Amino acid sequence: MTAPITQDVLTIPRKLPETGRANIVGLTRDQLREALIAAGTPEKQARMRVGQIWQWVYHWGVRDFALMTNLAKDYRALLAEKFEISVPEVVTRQVSEDGTRKYLLRIAGGHEVEAVYIPEENRGTLCVSSQVGCTLTCSFCHTGTQKLVRNLTAGEIVGQILLARDDLGEWPEPGAPKDETRLVSNVVLMGMGEPLYNFDAVRDAMRVTMDGEGLSLSRRRITLSTSGVVPEIAKTAEEIGCQLAISFHATTDAVRDVLVPINRKWNIETLLNALRDYPKLSNSERITFEYVMLDGINDSDEDARRLVKLIRGIPAKINLIPFNEWPGAPYKRSSWERIEKFADIIYKAGYASPIRTPRGEDIMAACGQLKSATERGRKSKAQVEAEARV
Ligand code: SF4
Repeated sequence: MTAPITQDVLTIPRKLPETGRANIVGLTRDQLREALIAAGTPEKQARMRVGQIWQWVYHWGVRDFALMTNLAKDYRALLAEKFEISVPEVVTRQVSEDGTRKYLLRIAGGHEVEAVYIPEENRGTLCVSSQVGCTLTCSFCHTGTQKLVRNLTAGEIVGQILLARDDLGEWPEPGAPKDETRLVSNVVLMGMGEPLYNFDAVRDAMRVTMDGEGLSLSRRRITLSTSGVVPEIAKTAEEIGCQLAISFHATTDAVRDVLVPINRKWNIETLLNALRDYPKLSNSERITFEYVMLDGINDSDEDARRLVKLIRGIPAKINLIPFNEWPGAPYKRSSWERIEKFADIIYKAGYASPIRTPRGEDIMAACGQLKSATERGRKSKAQVEAEARV
């Protein structure tokens, strides 16, 4: 029996107890405007101040109010007294031989999440987390073995993008002309957690990310990946409008019930019906179906043919993901030969079927792995100390 699917929402207040100052990272324009007025900014100036502060924080990467030279000195002092510009703290950073960077990050309350940066020839994708742990228990996923601790705030989600830009040295010099080449050119919400179980924070974070004076990434460069939280799908199209990816992974309810147990709540047919309108509602070209290739579980020719039949009528691309095996995983990766055969059937049916190159295997870059490895490390150190005391 698997754990029941629940939507356990735990949030922390925006005012962090450590400093008593409110973090402005992740506040929407309206929220920041309200906060500035409450802090004493004259109402008719507030809109302009939001634009100025956003430019400093999101375009220039400035974290110190004192450096915001187009604001009066006493106003900068007021901002520093009432607000802070903070991002998660990097606990460890691992760089793979292939350039993949994996960050283990500490957020308020001492919790840890991870983000992964994947450089490719013509893009750089940052995979961000939206929850600490996950309520869902997808059986192929390492995060699924970690209980949900809490939702991330919008600031903690945006903060992952800011610190990746820090690490990559991507901020332009203040005053330099606008450079449109981006190292972090794409963002995918595919890290720890189910983003649609933290909808409001994810929506606000993506609004900051998409805003022209914010991080200024086009909504076509943002992909939200869901396991299939059906009631939130239309809302995602209307309120975020980003690209959508579905953790699909199986072609029968019997198999998907095990791999992605949320399927017991919203089965394949219900999910596909909810997806049919998404491209039109969000004005996006197509939906990505993610399909992890598990040896002998979901990788037969029959599965490939069934998959094509199921998604007929939905503009789609199918991303085939060779399983990134983690210690103790109950599955094995399908052979390359099998993956290629599966891809071929889908391709011949008229769908793009790229096979994702495994990245960062030397740093355990699959979802949820670094955090657990660190926890194991800590546990064994604690065990060693306990043994020494006996
Ligand atoms: S695949 Fe996503 S939704 Fe499923 S357990 Fe892992 S993090 Fe949660």
